[in-house]
Amino acid sequence: MGNAHAQGVFQQTQYSPKSTTFKTIADPDADKVVLRIYQDDGITQKSPISSGNFGFQPLSSVRTVRMKHDKTKPEQWTAKVKGDFKGRFYTFEVYKDGKGYGETTGVFATAVGCNGKRAAIIDMSATNPDGFINEQRPASLEPQDWMIYEMHHRDFSTHPSTGILHKGKFLALTEPHAIAYLKQLGINAVHILPSFDYASVDESKLDVAQYNWGYDPLNYNVPEGSYATDATDPSTRIREFKMMVQALHKAGIRVILDVVYNHTFDIDGSPLQRTWPDYYYRKNADGTYSNGSGCGNETASEKPYMRQFMIESTRYWVNEYHIDGFRFDLMGVHDIETMREIRKNLDGIGKNILIYGEGWAAGSCAYDSQKLAMKANVYQMDGIAAFSDEIRDGLRGPWNDDKQGAFLIGKSGNKESVKFGIAGGVSHPQVDMTKVNYAKENWANQPTQFISYVSCHDDMCLVDRLRTNGCPDDEIARLSVLAQTAVFTSQGIPFMLSGEELLRDKKGVHNSYNSPDSVNQLNWDNIKKYPHVFDFYSHLTRLRSNHKGFRLGNADAVRAHLEFIPTSDDCTIAFRLKNLQGIDSWNNIIVILNANREARTIQLPNGNYTIVARGFKIDENGLGNATNEITVNAQEISILHD
Ligand code: CA
Repeated sequence: MGNAHAQGVFQQTQYSPKSTTFKTIADPDADKVVLRIYQDDGITQKSPISSGNFGFQPLSSVRTVRMKHDKTKPEQWTAKVKGDFKGRFYTFEVYKDGKGYGETTGVFATAVGCNGKRAAIIDMSATNPDGFINEQRPASLEPQDWMIYEMHHRDFSTHPSTGILHKGKFLALTEPHAIAYLKQLGINAVHILPSFDYASVDESKLDVAQYNWGYDPLNYNVPEGSYATDATDPSTRIREFKMMVQALHKAGIRVILDVVYNHTFDIDGSPLQRTWPDYYYRKNADGTYSNGSGCGNETASEKPYMRQFMIESTRYWVNEYHIDGFRFDLMGVHDIETMREIRKNLDGIGKNILIYGEGWAAGSCAYDSQKLAMKANVYQMDGIAAFSDEIRDGLRGPWNDDKQGAFLIGKSGNKESVKFGIAGGVSHPQVDMTKVNYAKENWANQPTQFISYVSCHDDMCLVDRLRTNGCPDDEIARLSVLAQTAVFTSQGIPFMLSGEELLRDKKGVHNSYNSPDSVNQLNWDNIKKYPHVFDFYSHLTRLRSNHKGFRLGNADAVRAHLEFIPTSDDCTIAFRLKNLQGIDSWNNIIVILNANREARTIQLPNGNYTIVARGFKIDENGLGNATNEITVNAQEISILHD
């Protein structure tokens, strides 16, 4: 019984009907560690908690046990308690220097009650939906073959137009309507915004409107309760999360978890701090907590137990929940060595698990920057990718000034940044690095270490950005498909924000992390309003999927086959994927992006070309022919092959 997969130094409980063994990693110098076993979760069945801290009165304590400290394993405290505790809740409390640090679920709770205040003892095997253990998982993909759709549970399903019943829930993604939508779009992976238990939505008040992205971790190894149909039953969120994964897998769609190990919601209430005060966090020389996350604290991945925690946590999500990939929030806060260890451990599971992250921090970290998993150090991390702000901002404009546009609005000086992205961030003789916006040298060894995108949940979405830059609606539609054409024909891993396919906006809100549904939700009626846009996206994903020329997967191959074609101005980019015999069914592919407000004529290399994309249309059977030259309309794209 218990959970077969939560093996490791952090495994907290081993349940059997006769007894439960509890274990926690805690401060080796603690005076004592006390285990408390309760009948309830401390939230839903009794007095309210005071907001802003995690204290609560242990009104219904059924048993208090002083845990054993084995001096040969000084960081480990254990207790074996006789009796059947299934359905009960528990906490640990560490006492040091005569002070109690407050009750906590422990760092590796795998089930919790409402609001994650108490850990729960459940039979994990009973949470598996029928057929889950031996489910057919989607085929392994090489990194360049992934097409990532970044989504928030509430954004995707809360609007009435979606027709989805389980609005804002894990179960939304089990509904045929949702699956059909994603299949129609043609992406092959969803990146779900934080879906582990986070702190900023009150799970006991789900009848009150609440919204948060969830970048405020509480219990790293338990699904978030507000996305379950019942946040008070510890098994429900686990079962429904698994049902979501199973349904997506059945549809051939992989699931990427957004993980936020770089900081915790707060310090004093965090299981990390409460079990081992000050061990898991970096501090400045003056003793204050470092804040590389911009959220008040920063974890210390270089510490052996923090590193081990991240390794075991990611492994646990893969083994227990069948997660296919991870997006590391502020990966630049973590150290390179830890990221390499995580890569190695996940490789050991024997499946191509995608790892990518933000190659930056949100403030300065109290650690040697040479050793941090920053974008500039990605070349030292095989099999790990980072987001490219070069192509993103080269297309839409700088992150720190919404009013400034870039390539998309026909602004000179951004061509090399976009070309850098089209080449997947690898060294390429035709990309002039002196003119690339941020990176002064290529930072990806391989194009598979490079996430191509134009927008994500952060900052304005594409429509708001273009609108802020003065574009009328007809231009926005054209420039949206132009931007995603750059992304999906680039040699990196393409990534898109959900809703771009139906021209979502966020009413101009730049940071919508806690904005209401009315700002964040997708209105599916937009598909009827902009059918040509959704249609274009769904053909674009298929075009990439059908043609390996767009995803060569290797830097030498990119240099051998990708050739930029000279254009007369800074807002037209043309490139050829050449000599693809043996790689692609097309010998040569030419892509032209014209961001100018006038048509442009491009001289073509010798050949008889079939036009397969023009304006909002993609048709691999052909839309016309061209030799010698082609004229591309204002703010449009063209794709040809011979
Ligand atoms: Ca929560």
